Amino acid sequence: MQGQGVVKGYAIGRAAIMSAAALEVVHYRIAEQDVEAECERLKKALATASGELQAMAVSLPDDAPRELGPLLTVHSLLLDDAALLQETCDLIINRHYNAEWALTTQGQLLAEQFSVMEDEYLRERGADIRQVIERVLRVLSGSTALLPSLEAGDAGDSLIVVARDISPADMLKLRGARFAAFLTDLGGPTSHTAIVARSMNVPAVVGLGHIRMLVRDGDILIADGFTGAVLVNPSELVLQEYRQRQAAYAGDRAELALLRDAPAVTLDGIQIKLEANIELPEEAVAALQAGADGIGLFRSEFLFMGRRDLPSEEEQYQAYASVVRTMAGRPVTIRTLDLGADKTLDGDVTVATNPALGLRAIRYCLANPELFATQLRALLRASLHGHVRILIPMISHMHEVRATKQAIEAACESLEASGVPFARNISLGAMVEIPAMAIAIEPFADALDFLSIGTNDLIQYTLAIDRGDSEVADLYDPMHPAVLRLIAHTINSAERAGIPVAVCGEIAGDSRVTRMLLGLGLTEFSMHPQQMLDVKKEVRLAHSNALRVKVASALNRAERIDLAALSN
Ligand code: PEP
Ligand code: MG
Repeated sequence: MQGQGVVKGYAIGRAAIMSAAALEVVHYRIAEQDVEAECERLKKALATASGELQAMAVSLPDDAPRELGPLLTVHSLLLDDAALLQETCDLIINRHYNAEWALTTQGQLLAEQFSVMEDEYLRERGADIRQVIERVLRVLSGSTALLPSLEAGDAGDSLIVVARDISPADMLKLRGARFAAFLTDLGGPTSHTAIVARSMNVPAVVGLGHIRMLVRDGDILIADGFTGAVLVNPSELVLQEYRQRQAAYAGDRAELALLRDAPAVTLDGIQIKLEANIELPEEAVAALQAGADGIGLFRSEFLFMGRRDLPSEEEQYQAYASVVRTMAGRPVTIRTLDLGADKTLDGDVTVATNPALGLRAIRYCLANPELFATQLRALLRASLHGHVRILIPMISHMHEVRATKQAIEAACESLEASGVPFARNISLGAMVEIPAMAIAIEPFADALDFLSIGTNDLIQYTLAIDRGDSEVADLYDPMHPAVLRLIAHTINSAERAGIPVAVCGEIAGDSRVTRMLLGLGLTEFSMHPQQMLDVKKEVRLAHSNALRVKVASALNRAERIDLAALSN
């Protein structure tokens, strides 16, 4: 069977099918005189399920994934929603449905409302509705067992959970038992099964369609978290092949872990800086644990999203300062608000003709001077605690650089006037993510302290391919020579101007592209912390100067750069 691999790794084990009350719901009509009692039964079940979730959220074991607490709270809040109770009771009162039937009907309606939302993340939140309703159905049926009591057999001594979907609360129950993999009918890369499985480091394949119906308890399964393939009752020969792959992968991970404290130096002695991209302040800990040389990109807009109000200067200051303190003297590059396109404030209903080309990022900040000033003051204050660098997104004109410098100067003056301590002479850099800036980079390189190439947007704008549109995803090609020439030109110009330059787009964390970037002369990479050791391994096996010669000659003539040609 084929699904989407969302957590890498191989697993071999016996299937343990998770119960799905939603699939076994009985439908019957109740008599008029029982309506009130049925509503009461529903009300109690909702309250019990919500109470269980709240109790779990406050008594999480120390080693539980940190996402679980907030997820459980959200689930219990969904159940406390008065509209859910009222609308489900209406179905009992008006149509005489039994409580289970009324609840699944109401749940389907809600899940459908989510399923038509444009945003992929919100679309997947329909799964939360299904999961909490599943929980109430279990309370109504009086059964709490999730999994059959299976003896793990001779298939590698492990069990693989097969489910329609797995809620965060179920995950918590399953956590202690060390399952080999999670396989679900539903879900996508940002579903909670994926998020939590990733933090537990257990291979997972989601979106398998009907695996729960097609596989029986005790069937032998192979799960391939790389390709999303699931093999059911495979032959001994196939089992042997996967046991070998599993052992080889475990060996690779163990070897990689040894690299944490090893220097990122190429075979010809070039020192490479590996920094981390983070979205939330608490992720700085993972960056440090992965051995990051600093934070290369803190996407500050995540502090502003998913809430009704704006974070105050004090709240922002605390968030930035906590990252700076965690990184203990290492550079922390904080990007000013990059709102617009796919990242918007809650309740913002302005629809730009083309949001990716509209009032985004620095354009938005310069148009909202108060909001910008608040963030700049918080950044200047946080820089007292360590090494802060301000990074400006989406710059295309030199006058935007000048306006930003004036805004920083004004923020310094206002702090000074009110006697609030801060550090002056903070370094200022810009994202290179608009082709116009990359082509005419020289004045920017002279006016700024550092540059950071945002390849996610640079590719989008160079090739005119919406980075979030799956219909044109095959044309989104980081190896297009036009993209690579823009990166090369930016790196060479920064070198000439004597300022540092990094790449912080997704390609910096893709170890298949590491050699290409080294060949372009890159010495600073910023990526998600979990990608760092893979990239470090590539760096340590590469000969930077040899790659520079190969890439330079390929850049001018190739139709598309062939990564295979860059291997040793
Ligand atoms: C980029 O565009 O490459 C980048 C790092 O910024 P974001 O992905 O946040 O747009
Ligand atoms: Mg960008």
